Amino acid sequence: MLDRAHFEGLDTADPLAGLRNRFELPPGVIYLDGNSLGPLPAHVPAAVARVVHEEWGTDLIRSWNLNGWWTLAERVGERIAPLIGAPPGSVIAGDTTTVALYKAAGGARRMRPERRVILTDDGNFPTDLYALDSLAGSVDAEVSVVAPEAVVGVIDDTVAVVCLTHVDYRSGRRHDMAAITAAAHAAGALMVWDLSHSVGAMDLDVSQADMAVGCGYKYLNGGPGAPAFVYVHPDHQASFENPIAGWWGHRDPFAMDTRFAAADGIRRLAVGTQPILSLAALHSALEVFEGVDMRQVREKSERMLAGFISLAETRLPGFEVVTPSDASVRGSHVSLAHPEARRIMTALIDRGVVGDLRPPNLLRFGLAPSYLRYVDIWDAVEVLVDIMQTEAWREAGGPEGPVT
Ligand SMILES: *Cc1c(COP(=O)(O)O)cnc(C)c1O
Repeated sequence: MLDRAHFEGLDTADPLAGLRNRFELPPGVIYLDGNSLGPLPAHVPAAVARVVHEEWGTDLIRSWNLNGWWTLAERVGERIAPLIGAPPGSVIAGDTTTVALYKAAGGARRMRPERRVILTDDGNFPTDLYALDSLAGSVDAEVSVVAPEAVVGVIDDTVAVVCLTHVDYRSGRRHDMAAITAAAHAAGALMVWDLSHSVGAMDLDVSQADMAVGCGYKYLNGGPGAPAFVYVHPDHQASFENPIAGWWGHRDPFAMDTRFAAADGIRRLAVGTQPILSLAALHSALEVFEGVDMRQVREKSERMLAGFISLAETRLPGFEVVTPSDASVRGSHVSLAHPEARRIMTALIDRGVVGDLRPPNLLRFGLAPSYLRYVDIWDAVEVLVDIMQTEAWREAGGPEGPVT
């Protein structure tokens, strides 16, 4: 029987329940949008203030060495590596996800110069498609875009790189990372994963993949515009050519050599001067995950999604659950389709239940295991049921009403 007591019971037994205290969550809000912008970890403001006042304000330019600014991008990478199953020295933070993807896919393409195709799917996040198109234009390659379920069937010896996003930003459908990576390798192609909608919400294993990228401001809670990250398999690092060569990836930047010579290791993925304050916020935010068993995070995510979907199916007639019913092919967000999605989401946000919209008709709810309680799911659905029963959504916004 699904009642509030059932969800309270899950909270009592939740081994991750204590993580919630590490966040500053506004009172009266049920935040179901951490897959778009993660909330503020409570210790981050003081850490950033210290960097601003002591490092920037006092130590000034000496901070590059004295306070380790020069290596901060790699130190952030060291904190992300265990979250994605990567070994030390294989992840570096910096740039945006779009740029990180361009670098990863561009470097991969250069390792398969005799093959022309960069393969992706049409469920991919648009910025990934734009970046791949622009890459293809500059390296005489061609982007092939197929349906997500068709990917494996079309990987052949013309494909240089398979480049996919692990969890679909709209539906929450999750690709089988191990199986697709194996299919790419069997055909001699390289595999690049975008983990933006999975990192921080589940255990991941990129150790078989060639490259991966991900976003710092979603489930990693690094703050608005937080730097992204890129992973390159250790076996590829020596031959990896960064398609955006810059002085931060040079082996001796202050030699001011007119010719580029790549640094050893993952450092060659760096481009230009890094946003130190943003890196400091992300570095600090990642402390939340220290010592956390990501398999427990995944288990909680699965249980939360199952609870939300059962409630939606039994209590929300008129909504279609777009997220797959099979837990093994889901990410950590749930999408419901409804023709009045915009007005319904506006009404929900007015009542303190913050999700978001993906036009034209999807209401999207991110169920982040690190700070949400199971009762939040029950309470959020209660509010939604009330909005539908009272038809309060009719009063909320117009067709052009505000959305996040
Ligand atoms: C959020 C997200 C991005 C964001 O790209 P930025 O360049 O960091 O703005 C890119 N790709 C995917 C799949 C995402 O989910």
